[in-house]
Amino acid sequence: MSFSTLYGTGKFGLSFELFPPKSAESEVAMWQTVEDLMAFSPSLVTCTYGAGGSTRGKTLDIVEGVHRKYGLPVASHLTCVGSSVDELREYLAEALDRGVSGIVALRGDPPKGETEFRPVVGGLSYASELVQLIHTECPSLDIAVAGYPETHQEAMSEEMDLENLKRKCDAGGQAVITQLFYENSDLFRFRDRCESLGIHTPIVPGVMPVVNFSQVRRIAKLCKAKLPAEFINAMEKAGESESAQFEAGVQFATQQVHELVRAGVPGLHFYVLNRSPATAQVLQQVGISGKN
Ligand SMILES: Cc1cc2nc3c(=O)[nH]c(=O)nc-3n(C[C@H](O)[C@H](O)[C@H](O)COP(=O)(O)OP(=O)(O)OC[C@H]3O[C@@H](n4cnc5c(N)ncnc54)[C@H](O)[C@@H]3O)c2cc1C
Repeated sequence: MSFSTLYGTGKFGLSFELFPPKSAESEVAMWQTVEDLMAFSPSLVTCTYGAGGSTRGKTLDIVEGVHRKYGLPVASHLTCVGSSVDELREYLAEALDRGVSGIVALRGDPPKGETEFRPVVGGLSYASELVQLIHTECPSLDIAVAGYPETHQEAMSEEMDLENLKRKCDAGGQAVITQLFYENSDLFRFRDRCESLGIHTPIVPGVMPVVNFSQVRRIAKLCKAKLPAEFINAMEKAGESESAQFEAGVQFATQQVHELVRAGVPGLHFYVLNRSPATAQVLQQVGISGKN
């Protein structure tokens, strides 16, 4: 597998993102989710890397488990937070040993309560440096990087953020997976700006169906993605009913995905949050699956 072939002509790269569950019970639920989502023939499954490297072993257990059980390409997310270059090297070596074919290479967020990212002694400051490390020392690993249709929160300007993305792609990033967003026009503008800057790497929209009010609040707080008034109105209309909120969320995500597919995106990356119903309903309604 190579990210460049997952998203080539005649292909549709469908990926699902999991996170390391915190309890035995939620781990069972996560594996059921994976089983349910196999019906859509994903091209890739990824698993996040907890803040500060808190889930190192668990992230690899999950991706290795998916790879062994389903024979699918898998990618581990990896951040620069809390690790020296030597520790990052160790992680990459273990990932290769355990059948991981790609890395989603990230800088990571500053620890809670801090506004600025500070590398550890002997560590890396930016995702572009991690991409370079992987590309140089582990060339058999595919590399995806993060892109921000609404610009990264800490970026000095949109231009500087896009220059950073170009640096990551030039250093070896083979696919750009975007932060979640809810206005497709932001994605289309981002895609055009990337193209005009010479970033020809496949840009894979990150999609997260929002199916209840607590998720709405979480998004506003954590990543500050804009939620369209039309969607908030639909959620408000749903009132207290959990099932009506779910329906409103699925309907909005279905429209969003329909439009993205019609606009020729090379694939989709679903933030499934270890639960399948919303993603499964959207995929069913749009009628898509991975094509490889
Ligand atoms: C698809 C996806 C998956 C993610 N998975 C995880 C995960 O598993 N675990 C986790 O903890 N977090 C994850 N994140 C969140 C991510 O770690 C944060 O968004 C983080 O704040 C930035 O990471 P980055 O890789 O984009 O950083 P970078 O690309 O390094 O950019 C960080 C900031 O620095 C700026 N910058 C970069 N280079 C320079 C430079 N040379 N000079 C000045 N400014 C510069 C950029 O414009 C940006 O504002 C994920 C995000 C996405 C979109």
